[in-house]
Amino acid sequence: MSQALDILRSRFGYAQFRFQQQQIIDCLISGQDALVLMPTGGGKSLCYQIPAMVRDGTGIIISPLIALMQDQVDALALNGINAAFLNSTQTLEQQRLVRRQLHANEIDLLYVAPERALGDDFLEMLADCRIALFAIDEAHCVSQWGHDFRPDYQKLTRLHEHFPEIPRIALTATADQRTLREIEQQLQLQEARRFVHSFDRPNLFYRVTQGDNNRQRLWRFLQQNHSADAGIVYCLSRKRVEETARWLSDKGRLALPYHAGLDKHTRAEHQRIFLQQEGVIIVATIAFGMGIDKPDVRFVAHLNLPKNLESYYQETGRAGRDGEPADAWMAYGLQDIITLRQMMAQSDADDQFKRVLHHKMEAMLGFCEQTGCRRQTLLAYFDESLEQPCGNCDNCVEPPQTWNATEAARMALSCVYRTGQRFGVNYVIDVLMGNARDRIMQNRHDQLSTFGIGDLDNNEWRSLFRQLIALGYLYADIDNYGALKMTPDCKPLLNGAKQLLLRKFERSSKVVKSKTTKPGTELQAADTPLFEALRLHRKQLAQEQGVPPYVILHDKTLAAICEQRPDSIEELELIPGIGARKLELYGEDLIQFTRQYSRDELILADETD
Ligand code: ADP
Ligand code: ZN
Repeated sequence: MSQALDILRSRFGYAQFRFQQQQIIDCLISGQDALVLMPTGGGKSLCYQIPAMVRDGTGIIISPLIALMQDQVDALALNGINAAFLNSTQTLEQQRLVRRQLHANEIDLLYVAPERALGDDFLEMLADCRIALFAIDEAHCVSQWGHDFRPDYQKLTRLHEHFPEIPRIALTATADQRTLREIEQQLQLQEARRFVHSFDRPNLFYRVTQGDNNRQRLWRFLQQNHSADAGIVYCLSRKRVEETARWLSDKGRLALPYHAGLDKHTRAEHQRIFLQQEGVIIVATIAFGMGIDKPDVRFVAHLNLPKNLESYYQETGRAGRDGEPADAWMAYGLQDIITLRQMMAQSDADDQFKRVLHHKMEAMLGFCEQTGCRRQTLLAYFDESLEQPCGNCDNCVEPPQTWNATEAARMALSCVYRTGQRFGVNYVIDVLMGNARDRIMQNRHDQLSTFGIGDLDNNEWRSLFRQLIALGYLYADIDNYGALKMTPDCKPLLNGAKQLLLRKFERSSKVVKSKTTKPGTELQAADTPLFEALRLHRKQLAQEQGVPPYVILHDKTLAAICEQRPDSIEELELIPGIGARKLELYGEDLIQFTRQYSRDELILADETD
């Protein structure tokens, strides 16, 4: 058996390498560079952890996520791996200790932030040590076009200049072809072998719901599918984050806000609670989540439209990292489109950049409005094709109804025209519905032929306008208080050359349960109580040791214990997710616990007979 496979089994407790892990690891062990694109949850960490252990010396991991370093190091320690980090949160004494260990070649993995890795004293220190490899995590931060741009990342070539012989690996979960090329150039990785893994996350169920009253819809979704699960809710503004967290708390969920306006301490505390307790909801702006390594996030909900499909993919990717079913849920409505278009128009970026933004936003809208398989569209966006519709998204499971909206669209457009393209959506809808509001009377718009013309209700009109805007027939002019303007595309629609088929308005009373179930609920009914008992037991262990529960054992591992009921250390060793160190730490305890539990069950069964 290769040394790498041996480590995978003995330290991490996994039987097989996944995807291209083996090739990537071999590449680094042989001293070559690698560039890895793998979706969140794919298993990137092992790709540098294992070669760092096989090769002589310490693996240096550059990561922008200081807040996570402690957790990563703790999790590795539980697998019996010597890891450490150096960052500004440590005392001088702690830093000295790490330096001593590094010199003594006692550390397999050292995590550092990019700022620190570039400092002269750090480079000097490395010169006296043995280095196994450099790993550059979240490598897309190097891209100036991206949303996570970090200028320090562009200087990381310094490491290579100082230590040209040391193999490097750059990893990211979010990069299109262009970003990949940028990473290659900026980090001088032209010679690196590329490993691009499929972007498909088959365990995620994609759902986009349209209409207004997002929060109510969110609440129904949570009640029906995730009444006790951990998840993340994304909102666009800090204010919305605060409000939503309070709202969910009032309804009885433990929901905590997270955004850049909160002080560091509060943010760290909320993140800690989310990681360590079960069933917590984090309500966040996009500031939260980069690199969050919590495997059992069961849903990610968007209360706003994400900026582009890259963000959407990355944010939803934080759900279901353990490979179990999870939900990617989004609510969006008319106002979202208007806000997004406004933000774009107001941005002071140069024209070329704006065109890129524009293209990306259109792709995002297209994804929301489409009636076909969402996964096919998402993958196509990342240059990947999926032959068949996936069967695991809302459009696949309940194909949306469409209606011929040509007539209604003509009324709407002609009303926009007759009111002089000077009014926003609400006003135009009031005219269409024949609401005799003061402003309308003052403008004498009750005299128009389109006053009170249609038989759609307010929601249906809004749905129609949303789609007309999304499809590019209308746009809201921000220099003019959001007045609706027509585009040249309207012409074929108005003169009858074109028909318009649109999505039917979703009545909010219609609720569809998603197919996802918790890992535990897939078990035999008879095993579920043990699963719950094991979770409680794990929680106690976690509290005693001050680590998140999943660092002790994953849900998947607990589920396997319920199924197999291991009765000896040898049997327990066969359960995925239990390595030598965990066997040593928890083995006896787990067997005792399971044995006792199974005995109690028998007694109970006897008594009820
Ligand atoms: P990424 O960094 O790509 O988002 P991680 O490295 O955090 O993903 O891995 C995601 C999860 O998959 C972790 O819980 C990890 O332990 C698990 N994992 C990684 N490799 C394997 C494997 N070969 N077999 C089983 N589980 C694995
Ligand atoms: Zn689908």
